Amino acid sequence: MLPRGVTRIITEKCMENSDSQLFKYLIAGPCAAETEEQVYETARQLHAVSAQLPYPVSFFRAGVWKPRSSSSDFCGAGKKALPWLQRVSRDFGFPICVEVGKPQHVVACLLHGIKCFWIGARTAVNPFAVQEIADAVQDADCTVLVKNPAIPDLRLWLGDVERFEKVGVKQVFAVHRGFAEQHENVLRNAPLWEIPIAFKVNRPDIPLLCDPSHIAGNRQYIKQIAQIAIDYGCNGLMLETHCNPECALSDAQQQLTIAGLTETLQSLIYKVSSNNPDDFLRQQRTLIHHIDTQISQLLAKRITTVEEIARIKRDHNIPLVQPGQWNSVVKNYEQYALPDDEYLEFLHHLLDELHQFSLKRQRRIQQ
Ligand code: PEP
Ligand code: MN
Repeated sequence: MLPRGVTRIITEKCMENSDSQLFKYLIAGPCAAETEEQVYETARQLHAVSAQLPYPVSFFRAGVWKPRSSSSDFCGAGKKALPWLQRVSRDFGFPICVEVGKPQHVVACLLHGIKCFWIGARTAVNPFAVQEIADAVQDADCTVLVKNPAIPDLRLWLGDVERFEKVGVKQVFAVHRGFAEQHENVLRNAPLWEIPIAFKVNRPDIPLLCDPSHIAGNRQYIKQIAQIAIDYGCNGLMLETHCNPECALSDAQQQLTIAGLTETLQSLIYKVSSNNPDDFLRQQRTLIHHIDTQISQLLAKRITTVEEIARIKRDHNIPLVQPGQWNSVVKNYEQYALPDDEYLEFLHHLLDELHQFSLKRQRRIQQ
């Protein structure tokens, strides 16, 4: 969800994003290297569409060691995947980028000529781990992409970036991939746009990329997330791309086909002029669309949850209406309301409708 005030911050940043050169980096490739064929086929298709992409592929990404939440999940092919990536680089000319979580990963990559690493969101929360990786890369002429830590802590993210600068890494990028949230939401990770924007304000010299794949968690939202990121002035995108996403061993729902990637990149609008009201209007409509998507899904989810409650009430002979319950719902909405009377009147009207509809659905279940 977009927190209050963010629309205004993005609006201001959008107005500043008048430099069409701002956007230049594109990172594509699968969530994980699964088999030699899958990696090679993904790269081959990507190479074949190169001329149709609005920007060249800066790096071909693939996770080799995957930091999964459950140890039963696919944890990556491990170092046997490194020669597969070397072959991709040799045959198609893409520089390779791999996630590293410990110094041994760095060493193994360097032995295979891989010199671009990304620090994942789970590693980025741990300064000890980040420092160990920084120490391992210090003598190598390499590029490091630092994803935001999974927890929303701007100072920690800035600090991670500094660790790599301090050991002399010349090319350090930041990657916004959203923030972990416990409650169920439409998006996999909350974008909390104000954090990458604050990062940009603090470090305008560090290229900031956006990873809409991990924010969205589902391909259907990738385009809108990517457009908002471009509108706030991000310098590039990391997009998970797979030759056969449906069969991917990790993050199957969010990976794009090569055709999907091409279509997404072709449909995005990269040039933004602060003087052009059409651009400005389009940016605001993208935001509204993003907000509406969430309102619509949350509303439907609210109704199905109410129906679930109705079943519990029916099965345990609990009365349909309980005193005080609806008042607490209204109070919760009022907490986030705009302060003027007209808005409050509108909100109460809307909530009355919502309440009546909820009761109607509950009565139907009780009968
Ligand atoms: C990834 O890029 O595949 C990945 C694991 O990313 P994150 O650390 O952002 O979850
Ligand atoms: Mn992934």
